[in-house]
Amino acid sequence: MSFSHLGLSDKVLAAVAATGYTTPTPIQEQAIPHVLARRDVLGIAQTGTGKTAAFVLPMLTMLEKGRARARMPRTLILEPTRELAAQVKESFDKYGVGQKLNVALLIGGVSFGDQDSKLTRGVDVLIATPGRLLDHTERGGLLLTGVELLVIDEADRMLDMGFIPDIERICKLVPFTRQTLFFTATMPPEIRRITETFLHNPEKVEVSRPATTATGVSQFQVSVGREPHEKRETLRRLLRDAKDLQNAIIFCNRKREVALLHKSLQKHGFSVGALHGDMDQSARTAALDQFRKGEIPLLVASDVAARGLDIPAVSHIYNFDVPHHADDYVHRIGRTARAGRTGTAISIVTPLDTKSIVAIEKLIGQTIPRAEGQSEARVSDDADQPREHRSREGSKEGSRGGRKPRREREPRHAKGGAKGAEKAGDKGVHHGNRKPPAPAARPASIGRAEPQRVAREAESEPADHSHLPAFLLRPVRARV
Ligand code: AMP
Repeated sequence: MSFSHLGLSDKVLAAVAATGYTTPTPIQEQAIPHVLARRDVLGIAQTGTGKTAAFVLPMLTMLEKGRARARMPRTLILEPTRELAAQVKESFDKYGVGQKLNVALLIGGVSFGDQDSKLTRGVDVLIATPGRLLDHTERGGLLLTGVELLVIDEADRMLDMGFIPDIERICKLVPFTRQTLFFTATMPPEIRRITETFLHNPEKVEVSRPATTATGVSQFQVSVGREPHEKRETLRRLLRDAKDLQNAIIFCNRKREVALLHKSLQKHGFSVGALHGDMDQSARTAALDQFRKGEIPLLVASDVAARGLDIPAVSHIYNFDVPHHADDYVHRIGRTARAGRTGTAISIVTPLDTKSIVAIEKLIGQTIPRAEGQSEARVSDDADQPREHRSREGSKEGSRGGRKPRREREPRHAKGGAKGAEKAGDKGVHHGNRKPPAPAARPASIGRAEPQRVAREAESEPADHSHLPAFLLRPVRARV
């Protein structure tokens, strides 16, 4: 199947060809013809399946005819977070070249005035987070009575974030006769109720069973004790030892924990950014941009901030905290192994997480292999582990090797220096019989790092920069 069989316009086909995509993904293949036939669509698909283009491409085709009127957008896309909204806008920019459509973003953290003047000029596509959209309608600067097509994206995340009442209000403000496209990765009862209320005889398009995890992800769990410092030490060891780590998102359950862990990792010399809902918009955008461009290889994030982010080729996901909701696990690990790639997801599990892990394993229909006490990289070559390294960081967990994880890829040497910035004394031990890599010069800035205000918990940890791959040490400025 090629894109040309889906009924898309020539302009849109040309834009798709320019991106280099030749074959529609299953969600695109199934959904696009229904969208073009003006049917309501219920799409059950995770991010990473190409679902954004599944609505953006037919919308662009349909919008070629007609004109926008002041303050009356023709189409409306609701997204749970600002980042996702911005990403959808980027999709319109990418696929909408050659079309003169007005695409506007209504997200928090940006001035009302600028948004208002855009609305006055007439908008073909309005991409919004629910709260800011309602603010504009309440001020009278926006009328939703001209909306011909409504997209509700990441609906289950909207539910988690408490947006469902807002969504219901918005659905009542748009005309009853509009077309609705509704995307969700899972179908909890509340979401089912919404679809039954607001979709009219929808075409159901399901590209993978709800709450299944992508096949290319190797998943592991590492057990630790209850003390917070044990989790941080374990994480650092995992990061240091992961041989094929190119970049990683490290998930925490709470914003406070994101900030704390971010500072702790920085203090230990890692090049790391942070993303959580309390950061101002420019800091969030800057952190995300740096991560996308590969300027910082690590990003500590909360679920809300990281939901659905399109960051191609994330090699590792770390659950610093096991998520309380099993669905979040699926979404988190869906950040890796996207578009046919492979990836690794490692959860750091305390005795308090047992219930959550059971729920996750039930949801995904598989057992997450244990890598007891050692990192996933170390389990496979435990004999190479330097003794002093074990006793320094791993004493709590002991040196029991767990099951050997599947190693899918050869280690990729990161740009910016040798893979391991080992101390001279570790040479030949860390890497066993293999030729040790040349010791990397540590970036000078690490030694001259400005003193930072580090939260008390992070303060108590001794900084240890040994064994860090050089690319993880690149300095980064991030406002959290
Ligand atoms: P999404 O699920 O919309 O977040 O898309 C996931 C990733 O797949 C994005 O990086 C898209 O650019 C990419 N993508 C979308 N459609 C295709 C396609 N037909 N072929 C290959 N990659 C695609």
